Amino acid sequence: MAKEILELVEVSPRDGLQNEPDIVSTANKLALIDRILAAGFRRLEAGSFVSPKKVPQMADGDAVFAGLPKREDATFIALALNLRGVERALAAGAKEINYVFCASDGFSIRNNGGTVEETFQVWAEAAALAKTGGALLSATISTAFGCPFDGEVAVSRIVEVAERCAAQDIFELALADTIGVAAPSDVRERFRAVKGAIPARVRLRAHFHNTRNTALANAVAAVEQGVRVLDGSLGGIGGCPFAPGAAGNVATEDLAYMFARMGFDTGIDLDKAIDTAKFISGVLGRATPGMVSRAPKWP
Ligand code: ZN
Repeated sequence: MAKEILELVEVSPRDGLQNEPDIVSTANKLALIDRILAAGFRRLEAGSFVSPKKVPQMADGDAVFAGLPKREDATFIALALNLRGVERALAAGAKEINYVFCASDGFSIRNNGGTVEETFQVWAEAAALAKTGGALLSATISTAFGCPFDGEVAVSRIVEVAERCAAQDIFELALADTIGVAAPSDVRERFRAVKGAIPARVRLRAHFHNTRNTALANAVAAVEQGVRVLDGSLGGIGGCPFAPGAAGNVATEDLAYMFARMGFDTGIDLDKAIDTAKFISGVLGRATPGMVSRAPKWP
């Protein structure tokens, strides 16, 4: 029997790098993206179109998109938070836009520049703009498991935000544990609730941070709820400039190892993924938190 496919979306060029204090050059970002593709990833976050003042690490989004390899078999995701971001992403040639909302006002005001209610006011327009520009549209709900400013976020709130996201023509919706507070029980509860509330055409995606060492357990819980698209950042780098104490994303090579051993086809060449994690470590000049890249080869 053919193995079941589990898609791993590599976010190191965006979520992974955005919080780094030293600017990584466009050339190194493109070299990283080449390695990511060589390791078998076919979908990755290549950059974000947000305020260059607020997130200087992502200021070269246009140059990164201009330098991307012309490949029909790979999808490069551009992240946007507002109309201007969608316009810039389209102008840069992005074919997939991930539009980010927050579940909590405290984070939304700092990360997205307005309350949740305010950010939804332009959602229909943003979605229409993406469609006219020929880009696929997905949405992410950040702080879906807890907010660094507002604390716990109710399940009913996530469901409400998910319904509003799915009111536009998105093909995928991600729940993001921006500050890594979730446990598997939260993941089960929230994905189950959201799945029951949005149309079946919208597939679900999970985005975990390993701030409290729960990310792998949460990934398994998400997959047990039927999620077949998971974000990861090679080396486990990452964080958010607007989430105090945010630690790295779950390390993609750790996800790739574990889910391959659980019988899924991730399409990833683990040795090349590990080499890429080591490349990132070299560029940043420090060890990265992922575990598999530091372990002896197995089997
Ligand atoms: Zn993240």
